[in-house]
Amino acid sequence: MTVAAARAVPAARGARRVRSTTPSAPRPCPVCKAPVEWGPAAPFRPFCSERCKLVDLGAWANESYRIPAVDAPDDDGAPPRTDA
Ligand SMILES: [Zn+2]
Repeated sequence: MTVAAARAVPAARGARRVRSTTPSAPRPCPVCKAPVEWGPAAPFRPFCSERCKLVDLGAWANESYRIPAVDAPDDDGAPPRTDA
């Protein structure tokens, strides 16, 4: 994913108040850092698209997978690594 290409998106369209932080000011997408126009035109905000939304959800899913839900070392009564 090219971040440089995402930053090259012209955001000067209708930029009347560049200094003030208006509610409709574009915010960076948490996933790809692309500017997301805050408004009804962005149904997937804070993500720029549904794809980035799914990517973020997938990241959370991967995090949950790293949590050992089932921890049963003595499953079949095998001795834990005996170097006899
Ligand atoms: Zn994005």
